[in-house]
Amino acid sequence: MSSLDQDALVREMTAWRHDLHAHPEFGFEESRTSAFVAQKLREFGLDEIAEGVGGTGVVGTLRRGSGNRAIALRADMDALRITEQGTPAYRSLNSGVMHACGHDGHTAMLLGAAKLLAAEGGFDGTVRFIFQPAEEWGKGALAMLEDGLMRRFPFDEIYGLHNMPGVPVGQFETRPGPIMSAEDNFEVAFRGVGGHASRPHEGREVLIAAAAFVVNLQTIVSRRLSPADIAVVSVTELLTDGTRNALPGFARVLGDARSFRPEVSAAIEREMRVIAEGTARTYNCDVEMTYTREFVPLVNDAEATRAALAAAATVFEPEAIKAEREPMTASEDFARFLDHVPGCFAFIGNGENSPPLHNPEFDFNDAALVHGTRFHVAIARQRLPQA
Ligand SMILES: [Zn+2]
Ligand SMILES: [Zn+2]
Repeated sequence: MSSLDQDALVREMTAWRHDLHAHPEFGFEESRTSAFVAQKLREFGLDEIAEGVGGTGVVGTLRRGSGNRAIALRADMDALRITEQGTPAYRSLNSGVMHACGHDGHTAMLLGAAKLLAAEGGFDGTVRFIFQPAEEWGKGALAMLEDGLMRRFPFDEIYGLHNMPGVPVGQFETRPGPIMSAEDNFEVAFRGVGGHASRPHEGREVLIAAAAFVVNLQTIVSRRLSPADIAVVSVTELLTDGTRNALPGFARVLGDARSFRPEVSAAIEREMRVIAEGTARTYNCDVEMTYTREFVPLVNDAEATRAALAAAATVFEPEAIKAEREPMTASEDFARFLDHVPGCFAFIGNGENSPPLHNPEFDFNDAALVHGTRFHVAIARQRLPQA
């Protein structure tokens, strides 16, 4: 970093991270977390601190010099409804909620960058520190945007980081173009007439229709989309009103679909309707389908990605930078900001032995904090250079 004592800052960020980890809060309930963030930003002496943006979001603003360009750095603050099974000393005190996605680390890294940039500047223009709520729901970024984020705190570019299990600490990965997928949710309900398990011909039971539907859905990706398109269609729940000796008259099939282009998402919905209606006709029952779009694909801007890689080159070893990682079929609502300004989202390693994201034993790797903070500081200084 620079003259600010790096070891002291890392110790401080680690303490913040452990405090946040012990007090996880679910999306739009991050009142303690956002108060913690705002209090730190006040201590660092930011020029402007806005709380309650999009519910529990916080925006800190730091101005230096006379430049009129602004860049935004974004972290997410929410935790998940998962019961922690790891045993760190700073284990979750909020039973049934835990930081299983490392947003405690993302928040601590961005606070570290705010402290360093407030103390030392080294840029000309405006840096917005965006701490968003409810990323896991895919609702927090939209809530901030609908609360006037772009009008009240305008910026020209935005950058964000997520930790990545399985990737060594000190490694940086991104790619231009689509990097994370859309997430669509679907629910298909079959309605017939239930009855005695011994006399199926007297009713119109629906479990056989639901089972056929689940199998036939597998042909969307394998037979109906181009092999060049990446997509996933997963059935995750099948619920009926049947019981051991009674056939169900009602069955719900729920699931989740991922894709990287709106045309592919539209094709999945269209083909799913064809299969649902055809299945209902075949098995003599009624069907109702709802299909919702929860996350849009995250598409990195080519120029912003070049900028992110240039900043990363000052922080990470050349062999630890992957400029063309494969896209991944997970979703991120950072994508919503990219509807308004260009930007880049990147991953930093959380260690090869890290449990996966959303695993009850997951824990953000404190050794990664310094890398994230240094990246945030570098991108701010490079994109807002001093004359
Ligand atoms: Zn997550
Ligand atoms: Zn996450």
